[in-house]
Amino acid sequence: MLTSKKPNLESVTSINADGSRYFIHPADVSGNFTVWRRVFGALLLAVYVLLPWIPAGGYPAVFFDLAERRFHFFGLTFLSEDLWIGFFLLTGLGFSLFYVTALFGRLWCGWACPFTVFLEQVYRRIERLIDGDAFARRSLDQSAWTFSKTSKRIVKHTLYLVVSLILAHIFVSYFVSIPRLYGYMQESPLNNAKAFGVMLFLAGALYFSFSWFREQFCLILCPYGRIQSALTDDDTVVIGYDELRGEPRGKKSDPNAGDCINCSRCVQVCPTGIDIRNGLQMECIGCAACIDACNEVMDKTSRPRGLVRYDSMNGLAGKVRRYWRPRIMLYTAMLFLGLAVAGLFLTGLHSAKLELVRFPGAPYYVTETTVRNQFRLHLVTKQNAETTFMFSTNELPAGAVVSGIDGPVPVSPGGGKMLTVIVQIPLESYTESFDVTFEATVNPGDFVLSDSVKFLGPSKYLLQ
Ligand code: SF4
Ligand code: SF4
Repeated sequence: MLTSKKPNLESVTSINADGSRYFIHPADVSGNFTVWRRVFGALLLAVYVLLPWIPAGGYPAVFFDLAERRFHFFGLTFLSEDLWIGFFLLTGLGFSLFYVTALFGRLWCGWACPFTVFLEQVYRRIERLIDGDAFARRSLDQSAWTFSKTSKRIVKHTLYLVVSLILAHIFVSYFVSIPRLYGYMQESPLNNAKAFGVMLFLAGALYFSFSWFREQFCLILCPYGRIQSALTDDDTVVIGYDELRGEPRGKKSDPNAGDCINCSRCVQVCPTGIDIRNGLQMECIGCAACIDACNEVMDKTSRPRGLVRYDSMNGLAGKVRRYWRPRIMLYTAMLFLGLAVAGLFLTGLHSAKLELVRFPGAPYYVTETTVRNQFRLHLVTKQNAETTFMFSTNELPAGAVVSGIDGPVPVSPGGGKMLTVIVQIPLESYTESFDVTFEATVNPGDFVLSDSVKFLGPSKYLLQ
């Protein structure tokens, strides 16, 4: 006889009392949210697959070039010394997630988290295709090992493995680029053991996660679900059951019953195996499947939709809904501040760098007639084309001679150059330290970079 587990609030559904695994097979559902989730999921998958193919500024649109220690992002190039921006980027992303959670609960988990998208839009679909609907899948799980079951399992797991390998190859291409990955694939794996090892590890992790571990990642491993209670409040929009309208549960023919007919459709479609009627639970990933399921039931019983819906806990309790509250105002102000700072940093980024530093050793050299300073001029281009730097200096004391730069300096694509520059002035022209500024007009792109350093010399007392 087929058995299915009833959710409770004491333990997660996917773990039995004896610690063994209970496989959840969510039933098929259709409805507006399901359609939009599929469309959005397909879009995210397309972005993941296509980004390494789309060129921007001579590189893939998103390319973590580990070999050259550069990160290309839609035409912007970041060097290893720009890593500090990554700190702001990561904290900014983390903060945005907090902000969205405070407003809309676990919208990220249900709609955009890569784990949910891969599981629901790729692996679960393969399973549906091979094993059939939820009832057929559960029957197959509990049936004896026949030829049919064995062949279905072999086909399904082979497809899981193939998809995991493809997804892992795409991931690696973000770090080595598609042409280089293709080159690697023509050679023995031993020639590129690191990349091959990463790809194999990732493919194995994907296969394990999506063929077996599944929703347990969200329930046991992911910290985000656990901190949501600290990020949300009674005005956060979540997915909830309208107890006032639904209770007491009963048949439609019962005049004393509420709108919930206790059909359990919302439980059957839940990918984490919970009953949304038990209230907001950590296991709810906000996938909206129960909304579509219940709306179907409401349509069939000629009752208004929305017994299970997106609403705040206050809204579900019949109280006033507040969207603007102190926490949201503070988050909004911080978000705009963060965006302004990020905009400021990004507009200051150039596709080339110029750095002027004093040469190690003595700060200056004095002869009977001159004072001399030596500097290092470090040039870097992040462009995928030869870049030319044309120099000029600020106004220097009379008789100053600059040597080490004779005309335009070319730098090969994505490369760098270190020049030694000597600035020499007549001893009688030196009275005190002054700024030496090198200005470079950079081609192609025609923008100007500059850097300054102090010209040093002997104290005036020594000169007397
Ligand atoms: S689907 Fe709707 S009517 Fe059916 S049990 Fe769930 S809440 Fe009640
Ligand atoms: S309770 Fe509803 S929204 Fe939450 S995970 Fe289950 S089906 Fe998705």
